Amino acid sequence: MIYRPIGKTGMSASVIGLGGEHLDNKPFETADAVINTALDNGVNIMDVFMPGDEVRTNIGRALAGRRDKMLIQGHLGSTNIKQQYDQSRDLPSIKTYFESLLRCLKTDYIDFGMLFFIDSEKDFSDMFDGPALGYAQELKKEGKIRAIGASSHNPVIARRVVETGMVDLLLFSINPAFDMAPSGANVLDYLAEDNFNFEKNLDPRRAALYKLCEQKSVAITVMKTLGAGKLLDPRYSPFGRPLSAVQCIHYALTRPGVVSALLGCSTREQVLEALGYLNAADEEKDYSGIVSKYQGSFKGSCVYCSHCLPCPAEINIAEVNKYLDAALLDPEHIPQTVTERYRALKHRGSECIACGSCEKKCPFSVPVVERMKKAAALFGL
Ligand code: SF4
Ligand code: SF4
Repeated sequence: MIYRPIGKTGMSASVIGLGGEHLDNKPFETADAVINTALDNGVNIMDVFMPGDEVRTNIGRALAGRRDKMLIQGHLGSTNIKQQYDQSRDLPSIKTYFESLLRCLKTDYIDFGMLFFIDSEKDFSDMFDGPALGYAQELKKEGKIRAIGASSHNPVIARRVVETGMVDLLLFSINPAFDMAPSGANVLDYLAEDNFNFEKNLDPRRAALYKLCEQKSVAITVMKTLGAGKLLDPRYSPFGRPLSAVQCIHYALTRPGVVSALLGCSTREQVLEALGYLNAADEEKDYSGIVSKYQGSFKGSCVYCSHCLPCPAEINIAEVNKYLDAALLDPEHIPQTVTERYRALKHRGSECIACGSCEKKCPFSVPVVERMKKAAALFGL
């Protein structure tokens, strides 16, 4: 397993994590098989947004004796009042459901208290100007949560969340199709309607959000990694052909700021299939052929696909570009974390011998040589 540091929290997440939704309305045996197969293989992070007592209790039973091995994303504001999944911004409900999470999981802390479903201006003001944020801060002070996070599907609102400086973790929906949807679109509608009927072009506002997260050390965990499975299905894929799960996972994991791709699994086999990503060859992971057709005005920007490798100087070009992009957001004040990550690379921009082989291979017309020079100048090596 590969682990990535979660921003400034001191915690690290496995790059493959678990989504919890497919454990809902399933027997205990399902949760037990999925969670313990994941744990046995080094998975250490899972999302539990589901508000029902039964699924939460099943998860708690499955984690018995291993609770400390799994980082839990628990949500503040996910409720099932009237037996239906819902969002609440009302403090007594938020408290009731958080306390039920502790009780059902048989734990006295949750790793990430996630401010739930912040997709609109109203969601933002309800959560950040209302009592929910104060409650999350109180929980953190009491040690009942270790860090504050938030979940969103909207890049404009998520950006506002990140800019508050209040969250260490963002759960965000990322896949190649969503990254080409207009940023004002409700991406969940695309899943509900069984189609992705929109003008496809990489949306710079989503890309800008990921760069901002990298710059501010706000870690991203990814939901909808496979677009609810639709990107794998030739009937629904908006790209004229299906993507593989490995390509989708790799796409998510190569966005700046991303620490873990969460996969919803309901069988042991599905967990093992997701973990297959770790042994996949570079050619299996390569998504550039699909995404490059829809680059639109994004041409010339790195999408971190690594299609340009190998590099004779062994530079990880995508990683250099990732840190350079984060640094360029404010070149006068490059965060130390970004500089440290760049400096920790085995080979850096200054080692580029300008052979030009990467530029010939890059489907996105990225001026790599120029960017390597720029990185070397900005980071000093
Ligand atoms: S330079 Fe081009 S090929 Fe290389 S990672 Fe960036 S987008 Fe992909
Ligand atoms: S131009 Fe520089 S970065 Fe690109 S392949 Fe050659 S040495 Fe590597």
